[in-house]
Amino acid sequence: MPERLIYLDNAATTRVDPRVVESMLPYFSEKYGNAASQYYELGRQARAALDTSREQLARLISALPEEIYFTSGATESDNWVIMGSVLGGNAKKKHIISLPTEHHAILEPLEWLKKNGYGDYTLLPVDKTGKVDPDDLKKAIRPDTALVTIMHSNNEIGTIQDIPALAAIAHEAGVPFHTDATQSVGKIAVDAKALGVDSLSLSAHKFHGPKGIGALYLKKGTRMGVFMHGGGQENNRRAGTSNVSGAVGMGCAADIASEYIADAPRQRQLTEDIWVGLANAIPKIYRNGHPEDRIPNLLSVCVEGAEGEAILGYLDMSGLQVSSGSACTSGSLEPSHVLLACGVPVELAHGSIRISISHETSLEDASFLVKTMPGAVERLRTMSVTWKG
Ligand SMILES: *Cc1c(COP(=O)(O)O)cnc(C)c1O
Repeated sequence: MPERLIYLDNAATTRVDPRVVESMLPYFSEKYGNAASQYYELGRQARAALDTSREQLARLISALPEEIYFTSGATESDNWVIMGSVLGGNAKKKHIISLPTEHHAILEPLEWLKKNGYGDYTLLPVDKTGKVDPDDLKKAIRPDTALVTIMHSNNEIGTIQDIPALAAIAHEAGVPFHTDATQSVGKIAVDAKALGVDSLSLSAHKFHGPKGIGALYLKKGTRMGVFMHGGGQENNRRAGTSNVSGAVGMGCAADIASEYIADAPRQRQLTEDIWVGLANAIPKIYRNGHPEDRIPNLLSVCVEGAEGEAILGYLDMSGLQVSSGSACTSGSLEPSHVLLACGVPVELAHGSIRISISHETSLEDASFLVKTMPGAVERLRTMSVTWKG
């Protein structure tokens, strides 16, 4: 085991802030009531805690508390919007427009609807930085389009889309607009009203909150079918006993997120410095995503002549915890669907590395990566039969 683990995979999940852990503890041990039980004190305490965290989260994304619906995370929020728009909406509108670079929590439900005959979808092209052209959205909208869903920032390459412009185009055609903002919330300012979206997905464990809790922002008056059926929780729109401790933790994380957001300029510089350092030391290394319109904490690169997973193995031996792309697909031998959609050749896409930092990442951590990775790449290239230098 290396002496010290350096965590550089904050796009997969983040360390729970100690203050968040502290805030949650009473809701396991003393304040364990069911928020739906309003005839006694423990139940009312739980309800009050839920109300508070709803307010905290609403403040973070400039929404109203009644526009926040707690879910089990962004996967559920994304599934809810997609299923709710097609199965619970206007029976004549079954078509959804999205991007090929979306998270699987968007792409898989779209494919499921299509495969089972419930709906249809169009994926718009993206350029090599991962950006979509708003004109392409304009052309793709059909009379039966039920929803446009385009992510705020990409979880593999960090590219930020021009959501206000895209949402405006959807609205001109009378189509509701959803954004998966999971990688942006808590890292940069996200203002649901300014974005002009009708719905937005987020997840607590991506901004130093606990796993298993997230939310769907649903703008007041938005039509949306029910996805989880059962009890009357979340204003009759999402059934299931409320995850009170999780909500309290997410609310606390939302409250302190301004500290993380204030660190964004430093993180942007640090990821830039890592890129310059790697580019100077490694021949045939390429940067993915958009150099300017990006979240500050993520750097994605591809190296020729070395498998991403093999590089990760070397880095792990030095205590560096890094990813080759999305945590959801790592382990599979398929190259990233995001990189392929950006036009990265298949061979090169196999050599992808995603470095995602946080407010806890120091200059020393970054320097250690820049010192360690070139050696790993060189060793792998020496062993490669296809690498020609
Ligand atoms: C992590 C992530 C998800 C899934 O969130 P969970 O809360 O883990 O289900 C969805 N979309 C994006 C963009 C993500 O980064």
